[in-house]
Amino acid sequence: MSKKMQSANLVDTWSSCFKCPLCGSPVRVDGDASLVCSKHHAFDFSKQGYLNLLTRPVIGKYGKSLFEARHHLITESPLYKPLHKVLRDLILKAAPDPASPWLMADLGCGEGSHLQSVLKACGLPQVTGLGLDISKEGITQAAKRYEDSIWLVGDLAGLPLADQSCRVLLNILSPANYKEFTRILKQEGIIVKVVPGPDYLKELRQALYGDGEKRSYSNKHTLDLFCRHFDRLDTIQLNYRQRLIGTELQLLASMTPLVWSSDPERLQDFVRQETAWVTVDLDILVGRSQ
Ligand SMILES: [Zn+2]
Repeated sequence: MSKKMQSANLVDTWSSCFKCPLCGSPVRVDGDASLVCSKHHAFDFSKQGYLNLLTRPVIGKYGKSLFEARHHLITESPLYKPLHKVLRDLILKAAPDPASPWLMADLGCGEGSHLQSVLKACGLPQVTGLGLDISKEGITQAAKRYEDSIWLVGDLAGLPLADQSCRVLLNILSPANYKEFTRILKQEGIIVKVVPGPDYLKELRQALYGDGEKRSYSNKHTLDLFCRHFDRLDTIQLNYRQRLIGTELQLLASMTPLVWSSDPERLQDFVRQETAWVTVDLDILVGRSQ
């Protein structure tokens, strides 16, 4: 079976969780592998298996090589492994009714590697992953690599998902749209938002901008905004260091917009190291519907 047909079949089983991004009507999958709404708006599955549900053209900020680097760093280096374990434990603790099928959505998923790592760590066969990102490049890579999940190019400000369609929402180091997140989260579900703390990747920032460039950063505003939309169940401060080897430092530099405005010589000095410690400092906010 082609990837296109396989994805169409998967989305068909979850079609009640979708809505038309143009008019909000219910949708179904038709025989030619399109998602069609009751008012006849149609969206074709791509040959890689994703659906493009954007209603306006968007020029991507991030290119193919950034998502390739992210994929390799997230799946092959130790950098984010402790984060994935914490997310797994949170989800296993908070996900009720384990026997019936449910959706875990990652909103702003990029090339999908965090979602896929968390799904794998959870090991729950009844869960289907759904990744959405505004970047067609990111979603194309996700759909090529991970065929058991649903991949959507879409807009956080107008999610093509039905009210109360998802049991777990992930939003990892990515912008949010809480109005939409509130709408699609099931009453008994949870949202897990991961935001960078002040020391996140501090070695990279120090190497690129020097020790004097301390980042003044507070998550208070993010936390206040989160609490205005959800009942906060927990906040976990996760801070650890991992030792990366030279090739992994190169990947880290390639996936970080921080380097775009940096001095190329400083960047070379950073990636030429044989190994270096890198700090991961994250706040993990967990909430449920109010
Ligand atoms: Zn429609």
